[in-house]
Amino acid sequence: MIYKVISKKEFRRFVDLLVKSNSSFGPQQVDTDSRGNPVYQFKPVQTVDEIAFDYTATASSAKHFFLPFREELSSFTFHKDGWEQKISYDAEPVVLVGLRACDISALNILDDVLLNGHFPSPYYLAKRKNSFVIGMDHLPLPDCFCKSMSHHTVTTGFNLFCSDIGDNYYLSINSSKAFNFLKEFETRDPLYEDNCLLVERRKLIQHGFTTEIDVTALPSILDIEFDSPVWEKWGQKCLNCGTCAMVCPSCYCYSLTESFETNLKGAKREKRLYSCNLVDFAVVAGGHNFRPKNGDRLKYRYYHQHRGFAENDNQQICVGCNRCGRACLAGINPKDVINDLRMEKESCLTCVSSSPART
Ligand code: SF4
Ligand code: SF4
Repeated sequence: MIYKVISKKEFRRFVDLLVKSNSSFGPQQVDTDSRGNPVYQFKPVQTVDEIAFDYTATASSAKHFFLPFREELSSFTFHKDGWEQKISYDAEPVVLVGLRACDISALNILDDVLLNGHFPSPYYLAKRKNSFVIGMDHLPLPDCFCKSMSHHTVTTGFNLFCSDIGDNYYLSINSSKAFNFLKEFETRDPLYEDNCLLVERRKLIQHGFTTEIDVTALPSILDIEFDSPVWEKWGQKCLNCGTCAMVCPSCYCYSLTESFETNLKGAKREKRLYSCNLVDFAVVAGGHNFRPKNGDRLKYRYYHQHRGFAENDNQQICVGCNRCGRACLAGINPKDVINDLRMEKESCLTCVSSSPART
């Protein structure tokens, strides 16, 4: 990693040139919610002035640049002598401006799942390799709990990360591409004062969290509470809409669909993002549904986010952005569900006798 300092004015000049020369996306206000708060999304931008650098969080995450809602995996052409399959991994280069630390952490988790396993996804790889990611720090929102998940800072997964230190940005440069682009602009090595400002900024962010979730030993608690009535309680509220998984930066479950052209001369195979909360998620051939109950489906989403990867890879895949909690029309959010589970566990401990005294 190389560190530089750049004035905010010069940084805007840098971003302006970058977004003018490439297909680029940055946060923009697209609406206002029922409480009058701005709603932001990543949208195409052509100039720096179109980017809302002071945005809070986007409603959807940046994962859709890498895992689109619908993605054609292959197409087929049939003719009298047989058939041909066409597969394309092409991905246009894109510049993504303004990703938060937890969003970049979610991309690192997707990298682990989709690139570092036995069967890496060439579709995901092409998009990830062809992206230029500029991260920006921010003060936490009242309902963010990314510090509890240790994702309020990030050290990999981006080309450039900007920390706001007043009139300047403190740049963490993590790729030769970013380093070479920046050579055309006025930057300097950090001074002692810049380092102090960076430490202060990090402290401000660290102490700015008002929502914390105790995730200590959560994978074990989930194991113990597999049959807890908590799942039924929250499951009864769930509308099975799947919104939580769609807005989540680290959910990646999908379904495959094959469709034929009506003239039977061609066909295509498509991947569509899916949610484990949807009623038919666990339906298998023959029509049996392994998870017909709302509570079971909700439980498995929490197991995927907080247990499965913690057991295998020593990390929970939830990054603590609370997008799912904000988007859920039924008022279901990780903080309340996890706290409920913990209370269930603690109330259970009151009915057993204390440990025998040591002799
Ligand atoms: S938890 Fe909320 S957002 Fe997710 S499927 Fe249920 S109702 Fe929809
Ligand atoms: S808080 Fe919700 S949306 Fe955010 S990473 Fe965790 S499960 Fe996904």
